[in-house]
Amino acid sequence: MNPEKTIWMDGQFVPWDKAQVHVMTHSLHYGSAVFEGIRSYVTPTGVAIFRLHDHLRRLFDSARIYGLEIDYSLHELRSVCHQLLTVNGLDSAYFRPLVYLGGGQLSPVGDQCKVHVSIAAIRLGAYLGEDGLANGIDVGVSSWQRVAPNTVPTGAKATGNYLTSRLVGREARRHGYAEGLVLSADGLLSEGAAENLFLVRDGVIFTPGDSDSILGGITRHSVIELARAAGLEVRQQSLPREWLYTADEIFLTGTAAEVTPVRSVDRTAVGSGKPGPVTRQLSAQFMGLFSGQTTDSWGWLDHVEVCHDHKIAV
Ligand code: PMP
Repeated sequence: MNPEKTIWMDGQFVPWDKAQVHVMTHSLHYGSAVFEGIRSYVTPTGVAIFRLHDHLRRLFDSARIYGLEIDYSLHELRSVCHQLLTVNGLDSAYFRPLVYLGGGQLSPVGDQCKVHVSIAAIRLGAYLGEDGLANGIDVGVSSWQRVAPNTVPTGAKATGNYLTSRLVGREARRHGYAEGLVLSADGLLSEGAAENLFLVRDGVIFTPGDSDSILGGITRHSVIELARAAGLEVRQQSLPREWLYTADEIFLTGTAAEVTPVRSVDRTAVGSGKPGPVTRQLSAQFMGLFSGQTTDSWGWLDHVEVCHDHKIAV
């Protein structure tokens, strides 16, 4: 991660190196923060942030689940994201809004701690590598499982959830995989360490449902909409693990991962071992939103006026 000029913290643009927290920060001790990951793209009609409103809405939903009251409106945070591109001279970027509890109370309850909000914007290339995006990645099913629904809610994008992602991601890389797939506590398919999971069989697209310990991904939703608009059938349902080994195609979706084909699972080739036609079609339709090849009938592109000469006092 390369430093950018400034990060927005509690209403101010702060130089990158000064954007710090105290060691007694509640969220550092208890994982009690919620966050988002959002991308902007350079499109033929200017720089656009993808589904910014929907990402911020999910941030507010995650905060609400944990009783974190955000002092800013969704509209204000949207404006901050727009400004961050200008102040940092960025166009295609990855935004990281974070809502966290400060210090002041040792108890995990933390209701006496101040709710802080920060948003950083950084440069980010293909999360699972350019080659993976084009040719597919090798994945393995993790020995770790997702948290059960009555333990920690996976539908909230909370920092603490990513302890599982760290274990899964490290185990996967130790075994030579680019990413790990995770089963739910009842042994059904859930998602990747930080991506949603899709399978294709006989032209029908399957993806685990909201009750299968997933994060309701915004890329997942976008791909479902694009598939349905193209006349493809999509089923959101619980899926047994063995479907991984009989699927014609598998792909992962996420803001960082975009649409990444999977070429093998547990060293077993998926279909021909190359990205299949449905994966290629959906990946092209998704990326086409940014190249202008796909019409944005949904109003997903939030255009930003980026002015690189803008001077800001920090
Ligand atoms: N699941 C998990 C656990 C994730 O961290 C992510 C990335 N945010 C996703 C799924 C994909 O969600 P989205 O498409 O909204 O980025």
